[in-house]
Amino acid sequence: MKIGVEALFTSALGLVPPWEVQDVALDTARKRIDFEVRCGAGLLACPACGAGGQKIHDRLRRSWRHLDFFQFEAWLHAEVPRVACGSCGKTTQIEVPWARPGSGFTAAFEALALALCRELPVRQAAKLLRCADKQLWRRIEFYVEQARALESYAGVEVIGIDETSLRRGQHYITVVHDLQAKRLLYACEGRNHQTVLDFVADLKAHGGEPTDVRHVCMDMSAAYAKGAALALPEAAISYDRFHVVALAIEAMDAVRRQELQDEPQAVQRALQAAGPKAKRQLMWGMRKNPAGWSPAQWQSMHSLQRSGLKSARAWRMKMALREVYARARVHNDEALARQDLKVWLSWAQRCRLAPMQQLAQTLKTKLEGVVRGMLDHRSNAFVESMNGLLQQAKRAARGFRKAKNFIAVAYLRLSKLSNLPVSPLAPGSTR
Ligand SMILES: [Zn+2]
Repeated sequence: MKIGVEALFTSALGLVPPWEVQDVALDTARKRIDFEVRCGAGLLACPACGAGGQKIHDRLRRSWRHLDFFQFEAWLHAEVPRVACGSCGKTTQIEVPWARPGSGFTAAFEALALALCRELPVRQAAKLLRCADKQLWRRIEFYVEQARALESYAGVEVIGIDETSLRRGQHYITVVHDLQAKRLLYACEGRNHQTVLDFVADLKAHGGEPTDVRHVCMDMSAAYAKGAALALPEAAISYDRFHVVALAIEAMDAVRRQELQDEPQAVQRALQAAGPKAKRQLMWGMRKNPAGWSPAQWQSMHSLQRSGLKSARAWRMKMALREVYARARVHNDEALARQDLKVWLSWAQRCRLAPMQQLAQTLKTKLEGVVRGMLDHRSNAFVESMNGLLQQAKRAARGFRKAKNFIAVAYLRLSKLSNLPVSPLAPGSTR
């Protein structure tokens, strides 16, 4: 009967000769199951030179954490032979088939840990697995680096460069997406032109051709444009809706703040009917789409629209710009988009609201890039969905708000890496 149990676990653990389970110890109080695994071979091949039939010099005891068996924490223990080679003269420890060298986890445990970290914050995954989160971070970095090294970036043609920050307004990280394959290609600290050059070096290291890149979507920072001009000679630049509308909202907010400061009584009078919290409601109402207005925001916005305030004009201009984008999405015609945008620009230039005039000037100098960003609905939806996923990656690295941790988790989740270990619990996996 005893023999039957060992044989059962030998096969449950996927062990093949010369490895077998020699002893199983179940500790129900500590909820722990320990497997003593033995290498039964008398002679072994030398791991260093491959010479067969070498003598075992000694054995060193090691342990590995394995996947739980039901609610029992499972551990493997083995005396791992060192081979004294008569051929090359070296003494070398053999590798065990269930773990990578140097790891205290079995490969199956590591694969499960990685799969959990794709779905859960790392701290939570560690808690679930009852291990230290530091141990998981080390493995995420190891496997991500290994898997990224095997990725091919050949044929990458359309990319998006964007920045994100770990804390509001600091710790900037640049992210580069493949907008066709919808995957994260590259992330690093900083947001200057050198960041773009570093990305291009990484692209080349993965078999990509800088001259294949024919399109770059980005914000209007001069640094990214400089980097792209230096290292991506064939790329046309486009500025996507997300960034352009964000600039319009900023300009509109600047008008509202200025007016509140310069003419508080006029604002007060205009909003009188909308109640005491009208100013605050106005700020949010102006930024949101009408579909998202709360009843209180409706009231403030209604008062605003009937007023002669500068804020009302700024809001109309912002909405009109959104409308220009909405129409372009429907007609998708370059000439129409350019014409439509020019009408908006000439309105903005004549509006006597300084922030809007400045925005119009900026858009005018980058007109072709702005027009390109209006067509094909190119990156907009994707850029926005990527932003959502990046926010999730930030939450996954919570408590470890170092760029290094965030970048590792972002690669794990957003890069579609095809050479990560397969979860032992995934349907269709072989073990
Ligand atoms: Zn040897």
